[in-house]
Amino acid sequence: MELNRCNTSEDYLALVNGPAFTLRWLLEYHLSRSRGRAVTIAGFCSPCARTVDFVAPFDGAWHAPDGTLVPNWRDFLRCPACTMNGRQRRVAQLITEWAMDLACRDHVRGYVMEQVSPLYRWSTTTFPWVEWTGSEYLGAGKIGGREEKGIRHEDAEALSFADATFDLVVSCDVLEHVNDPSAAMAEIMRVLRPGGRAILTFPMDPALERNQRRAARVDGTVRHLLPEIYHGNPLSRRGSLVFTDFGWEVLAQLRAAGLSDAALYVYWGYELGYLGIQFYFLGHKAPPT
Ligand SMILES: [Zn+2]
Repeated sequence: MELNRCNTSEDYLALVNGPAFTLRWLLEYHLSRSRGRAVTIAGFCSPCARTVDFVAPFDGAWHAPDGTLVPNWRDFLRCPACTMNGRQRRVAQLITEWAMDLACRDHVRGYVMEQVSPLYRWSTTTFPWVEWTGSEYLGAGKIGGREEKGIRHEDAEALSFADATFDLVVSCDVLEHVNDPSAAMAEIMRVLRPGGRAILTFPMDPALERNQRRAARVDGTVRHLLPEIYHGNPLSRRGSLVFTDFGWEVLAQLRAAGLSDAALYVYWGYELGYLGIQFYFLGHKAPPT
């Protein structure tokens, strides 16, 4: 697997326009053309720790300039055993690295901003010595920390946890759905212990310098500023409304919130089933000086 840290849009453009990504694109393009009903790739699932045949159906596929359908690798190239897509499997790998770093410490606490998910289940069963908390957003007017049918409610913009509770916060594809991403980032920083790690994924449009608001909640009412976009949500048939299209501004936002070493990491690995241009954000809350 290759991993590249990008601090600026210039770093990113040099990487994705370079020869390595040109070759990868050709490989992905030809995989897409040799399709039946789905693309199958023999590889190794890191969370399952075994060889599997990853499968990418053409749900959510996009058209290459010549009309060839190319799967949405990020969201749909899944391991048939754990069902996790590439993004979730990569986050699981990052959780493993974090857990190994802290394996000798007592009272390690991790918060995953999801609960009804294979990633959360995998985290709790793989690292039972970590005290895990998971949560979902169950709707406006719910009380943070309360459970309904075993599912804990939390509002990312107003978490119910005490300051400096967790050694790790994982937030996967949540920040684009909150009204005020800066407030959610501030909350993540507040509940992290000094030295704690944040692993974040959310869609970002590398062509955008500034964030773009698609919707805003004013006095409890959602106002749409751009056409509505919804992403899949296991707890809602309609899905979750996208409030923000992130641009490069988000890196400055994360650093301003307190993740002073926040950067975007681009990863690619055929054998691990990480195809397309995929990235995540990672940073640490500065330890006390
Ligand atoms: Zn798997």
